[in-house]
Amino acid sequence: MRRSFRPLEYYEWLYYNKKRVLEFNAKSIEEWRDWRNKLRSKIIELLGGFDYPATDLYPETVEVREFPGYIREKVIFQSDEFSSIPAYVLVPKDLKGRAPAVVAMHGHGYGKNEITGFWDDGSERVDPISRGYQKDFALKLVKRGLVVIVPDQCGFGERREKEDEDKGPHVSSCKKLSLWALMLGKTTIGRRVWDAMRTIDYLLTRKEVKRDSIGIIGISGGGTTSLFTAALDDRVKVAVISGYLNTFKDSILSVDHCIDNYIPGILKYCEMYDIACLIAPRPLFIEHGTKDKIFPIEATKYAFEKIKRVYELLGVPERLEADFFEGEHEICGRKSYDFLVKWLNAEID
Ligand SMILES: [Zn+2]
Repeated sequence: MRRSFRPLEYYEWLYYNKKRVLEFNAKSIEEWRDWRNKLRSKIIELLGGFDYPATDLYPETVEVREFPGYIREKVIFQSDEFSSIPAYVLVPKDLKGRAPAVVAMHGHGYGKNEITGFWDDGSERVDPISRGYQKDFALKLVKRGLVVIVPDQCGFGERREKEDEDKGPHVSSCKKLSLWALMLGKTTIGRRVWDAMRTIDYLLTRKEVKRDSIGIIGISGGGTTSLFTAALDDRVKVAVISGYLNTFKDSILSVDHCIDNYIPGILKYCEMYDIACLIAPRPLFIEHGTKDKIFPIEATKYAFEKIKRVYELLGVPERLEADFFEGEHEICGRKSYDFLVKWLNAEID
């Protein structure tokens, strides 16, 4: 008998000693297929299910403006009976026919405006910025010939509670939404993934969008939504996860993170890299700053090695790439944007 006054020890023991029952370990295509179906179903259940009250999209374009090289539309569509999603759609100006499209997911900050050329007071920048942690990346992508859609994630921008709006543009409603969600058996990640899937539903109604060429990219909390959406929705053909891939243990259990990150029970079944394994055989790019303090790089590299196994098993190792760049918690784009464009234009199964 050994006395301990550290209750956390038991949880650490569970983490290190109890096998996560749906971790990726397949040795054949059959085992992989079976594992994938089981883990997908379990994740949907742990996210709180996708039983949001169904409705049509009821899309509406409320503003159209021209900029050098692209057209920006503001659109609104329904995610469910209760939730409308405002989004910007950026369309290359010289576009003929249909083009690949990408869902661009912002992280914590002031929402869709932060990556589409607005300052936090709503005024527009003269030129896109390349500093900060999100760097107007939606504008960088439309300039590469992609149709880009940028929704406000729930809890940010125009999708906040009044009490948070009154406190300023950077104050999110993550905490209130997540507390309500968790007590009702839902999760904020689940809500955001559902919204992302509805965003893809909307993209597929657009005449400029090539139907089989839809990608997703996100930084930080946008990386979270991108990871889970790509893992669960095969309509996503290519994914770029920036500033998020890690282990749950080394990031959200070790560093102070927003409550929107937590999924009750998930570590009984899998770690974060197992969820990323669900994206294979579709192309996946992991981008991460070596000095990221909230998603430590060593755990990112560890997770990346774990993901490699599934791409090797499926015989497509060239579809998984990473860029560990010298930088902090920020998007980079020096290789990931090319990867996105290359694979969205490639003819693959
Ligand atoms: Zn949050």
